[in-house]
Amino acid sequence: MRYAHSIADLVGNTPLVRLNHVTDGIGATVLAKVEYFNPGGSAKDRIAARILDAAERDGLLRPGGTIVEPTSGNTGVGLAIAALQRGYRMIFVVPDKFAGEKVAVLEAYGAEVVVTDTHVEPEDPRSYYSVSDRLAREIPGAFKPNQFANQNGPRSHYETTGPEIWRDTDGRITHFVAGVGTGGTISGTGRYLHEVSDGRVRVVGADPEGSIYSGGPVHGYLVEGVGEDFWPETYDRTVVDEFHRVGDAESFAMTRRLAREEGLLVGGSSGMAVVAALRTARDLDDDAVVVVLLPDHGRAYLSRIFDDDWMSAHGFDTPIDTHDTPGSNA
Ligand code: PMP
Repeated sequence: MRYAHSIADLVGNTPLVRLNHVTDGIGATVLAKVEYFNPGGSAKDRIAARILDAAERDGLLRPGGTIVEPTSGNTGVGLAIAALQRGYRMIFVVPDKFAGEKVAVLEAYGAEVVVTDTHVEPEDPRSYYSVSDRLAREIPGAFKPNQFANQNGPRSHYETTGPEIWRDTDGRITHFVAGVGTGGTISGTGRYLHEVSDGRVRVVGADPEGSIYSGGPVHGYLVEGVGEDFWPETYDRTVVDEFHRVGDAESFAMTRRLAREEGLLVGGSSGMAVVAALRTARDLDDDAVVVVLLPDHGRAYLSRIFDDDWMSAHGFDTPIDTHDTPGSNA
């Protein structure tokens, strides 16, 4: 019989899919690594099992323990899938700007969710960071994975995402493009690809306008899961060869095109990464192979990026609905 021993065993080995329509006018091959094929629907499934394995090994997490983590969604789902069969209690602390569908998903996996006020300073006792720190301190047997500092995050990408891409492209990849949140994906995958190719593969970061990584003024933006206003320990500054700064409007327009033209219903950080990948690919020869990582599924964003009223209310055009025919770029 051929079956998985548990859903947690199906993490990783996500497919590469060629982009055929948004690449109009580009000679290079652009391949998307579609991370929504992971069982929890995002790349974050990869980091969760390794984080829990290491915590158990180091004695930080024992039977009957509780996992406490501030997360806006994907990391919580990944941790839930890894944790629930091991019998841990899960408490996720979520800022209220992400409340709604994402909270419902975490609760569906049996997690307890504490919603906190987004509009307070990190040092405020009501903040997302302070509340999770307090719970981790007060609850006996609590373990906080701390995805912004836990080196098992980048390590899991070094051990899985990088080798998968190298294997599936037969070593022909020339450029790797990814968004940067904790930096785990780009640091781990990029380091592996640099090493295995003797520095031939170029690692390109995609960053929202307003984030710290790509320089320029730090300010708010709407694309979720990427960019930061501080330097996390999981980000390795020696790996990224160049950054592209991408605005919310461009990220969201591309996210909608990916659904309509490629059949890829993905989140806003995927649209952002594809904008950076196309800017990279535009200047390359036909034999270049650009791999862009798409971190999560679009279903969590139906009431925002895919909602015309939400888009208009935030000042974004929805050109695809008014004058652009789906597939017209094909
Ligand atoms: N996109 C989304 C939707 C995410 O949730 C994350 C994780 N924060 C990222 C991109 C960036 O991944 P990483 O944290 O590995 O840099």
